[in-house]
Amino acid sequence: TSAAASRTFDGHGRTADGQEIELLANVGDPAGARVAAESGAQGVGLFRTEFCFLDRTEEPSVEEQAAAYRSVLEQFPGKKVVVRTLDAGADKPLPFVTDAEEANPALGVRGLRTARRAPEVLENQLSAIARAAGEAGAEVWVMAPMVATVAETEEFVAACGRHGLGTAGVMVEVPSAALLAGPILARADFASIGTNDLTQYAMAADRVLGSLAELSDPWQPAVLRLVEATCLGGAQQSRPVGVCGEAAADPALAVVLVGLGVTSLSMTPRALGDVAAVLAATDLATCRSVSRLAVDAESAADARAVVREKLPVLADLG
Ligand code: PEP
Ligand code: MG
Repeated sequence: TSAAASRTFDGHGRTADGQEIELLANVGDPAGARVAAESGAQGVGLFRTEFCFLDRTEEPSVEEQAAAYRSVLEQFPGKKVVVRTLDAGADKPLPFVTDAEEANPALGVRGLRTARRAPEVLENQLSAIARAAGEAGAEVWVMAPMVATVAETEEFVAACGRHGLGTAGVMVEVPSAALLAGPILARADFASIGTNDLTQYAMAADRVLGSLAELSDPWQPAVLRLVEATCLGGAQQSRPVGVCGEAAADPALAVVLVGLGVTSLSMTPRALGDVAAVLAATDLATCRSVSRLAVDAESAADARAVVREKLPVLADLG
C-alpha cells in the first residue's frame, strides 16, 4: 500500500527489548545501490552481481567487473556489503557460463556449480571483487550461491582466502545445506538463507510458476523447519545467519525469522520501514514464541493465521 511504501526507516533495526537486528538492502546494480543507500539501509545483504551482466554473451573483463562492483561498494563507506558471486543459470542464464541445452536448468550447473565447468570465471570474479574492495571503503563479505555440500563450502572459502577476501560465506538455498549447516558453518564465516530458492527446492515447486504459488510459499512449515535447522547450525558454530530472500520483506515472517535466530534481514529497500516498525513493537520472547507456533503449524495458511493473531501490531501497518 502507499502508506506502507512511505513508512520511513530510521536506519536502525532492533526488537522492542533492544536486540539488534541488521536491516540491509538487496541490490543488483549501481542505480539500485543508490536507492538502497538513500533508504538508510545499514548495508547490503545481497548484491546480485549477475544483474550487472545479464545481457552479455562474453565474460566481462576483470577491469570492467571491478569498476561495476566499485560503483556499488563506494556508496556504502564503512558499511557491510555482501557480494554474491555470479548466480547464473535457471531464471538467470549467462551464456558465458551456463548451457542453454540443459533439460532441468534449476537442477543443473548453476550458481557456484558453474565453477566446475569454468573455474577461471570464478577466479576472475574474485580478483575483481578484491580489487574493488581495496579501492572502495566498504566492508566486503563474499558469498557463493547454490552451495549444496561441505566440500563446496571448503573450496569456496579457500578460493576467497587466496584472493585476500577474508570474510567468506555461503547462501543456504538448497535443503542439503540447511541440514548440514553445522559443518558448513564450521568452514564458512556466515550463512545467508535464500528463501526463494530454498522454498523452490524444499517444495519441488518452480518459483516462477504462478499456478504453484500456494506451494512456493516461505510460510510452508517445512521451509521454516529448514530455516530453524540453519539457525541451529549457526548457533552451534557461533556464526551469523541472515535471510536475503523475499521472506525477509514480509513483516510478520520477519518476526518469525528473528525468533528462529536470524540476526540480519536483507530486502528490497522499500520494505525496510515496515519490517523495522514491526520488530520495534515486538520483544524477542514474542518473536520466539510466535516462531514456535509457525514451525509447529501444519500448513502455510495456519502458520500465517496463528502469527497474525499474536501480532496485533501488524494491523496498524494497514
Ligand atoms: C533466493 O534464492 O532467495 C535469493 C535471495 O537469491 P535469488 O532470488 O537471486 O535466487
Ligand atoms: Mg537464489
